[in-house]
Amino acid sequence: MIDIQDIQKIIDKYDQSKLAVCTLGSHSSLNIFKGAKEEGLRTVCICKEKDAIMYQKYPVVDELIIVKDFTELLNEALQERLRSLNVILIPHGSFTAYLSTEQLTSSLKVPMLGNRKLLHWEVNRKSQEEWLHKAGLQLPATFSSPDDIDCLVIAKLQGAKGGRGYFLANSAKGFYKKADEMVKRGLITRQDIETVHLQEYVIGVNVYPSYFSSIINSDVELLSMDRRYETAVDSIGKIPASEQLEIGVIPTYTVVGNFPIVIRESLLPEIMRMGEAVHKKAMELAPPGIIGPFCLETVITDDLKIYTFEISARIVAGTNVGIGTSPYAYLRYGENMYMGKRIALEIKNAAKQKQLQNVIA
Ligand code: AMP
Repeated sequence: MIDIQDIQKIIDKYDQSKLAVCTLGSHSSLNIFKGAKEEGLRTVCICKEKDAIMYQKYPVVDELIIVKDFTELLNEALQERLRSLNVILIPHGSFTAYLSTEQLTSSLKVPMLGNRKLLHWEVNRKSQEEWLHKAGLQLPATFSSPDDIDCLVIAKLQGAKGGRGYFLANSAKGFYKKADEMVKRGLITRQDIETVHLQEYVIGVNVYPSYFSSIINSDVELLSMDRRYETAVDSIGKIPASEQLEIGVIPTYTVVGNFPIVIRESLLPEIMRMGEAVHKKAMELAPPGIIGPFCLETVITDDLKIYTFEISARIVAGTNVGIGTSPYAYLRYGENMYMGKRIALEIKNAAKQKQLQNVIA
């Protein structure tokens, strides 16, 4: 684990009048860079050659560092260059997809917005459930063995990117049959089955509220809400049921985009309380709690119960629907506020109040 004192020493050496925001060139990078530019901060992008076109078309990056692989972020020479640019890293989904928690918490000696200690709570499904449960949120039931399945379940693979390889089953027999089919189709491996996470499939609609936990203002702000556009599950409804049965459709959940959502207003107080409760519990589990963006992944049923099945303690790609503004950011800030900009604003305010060390771990 990186010593927080070491990170503070790095921050002390920074020229805080020339702070730069840096992230990997994917996921929500345009959101993050645009927000930083609008707040007057410099931007540094670590990018693969093939993706550089994004930053030519959208000129939001001051310094483009081309790498072959995102794991190059672990190279000491690159980290030294980032420190010399007074960089604050903004973690997003690609960080945990390409680097292990161990690497993120022990080999990344560059100041990073957020609470690295929470990563351990977030990446492990069991500890994540414990956190949400202790915060008083409603969770879908889980099953420790496929033999215990007694309702519709969703089978989730460990560390799956964007829900790839998930499948549904209604009984133990159905589970083993589907798992076999998935292996034969090359969608999952036998090893995946051994570590699969079985969760009650809650019938309802998905809502993903994104919050910003401000350490500087001691407040949790609701900034946007979205749902995902998932292939193939969002296309199955276009096929008549008889043909679905004939071709043996297996729904998969690979995210290809997001839609903005406004929720019925009577649900909003609960959505707000949930965000507060999760942060408050995190303050106990891993002080000072969540720093910056986080998102709850929920399903809302027809009796308007909100079930939370996952948390991301970082910016999610769904906040990209709010670039410019979203109704929830507008209600609080007026025009032109969104997650990338809110992050930059927090960094600026922290620097102004000599509190940068409090938003960085
Ligand atoms: P995840 O990778 O956990 O974000 O899940 C991918 C997708 O699977 C979600 O966006 C939902 O559509 C669906 N999903 C996950 N868990 C559940 C659940 N417990 N009940 C219903 N749908 C779920």
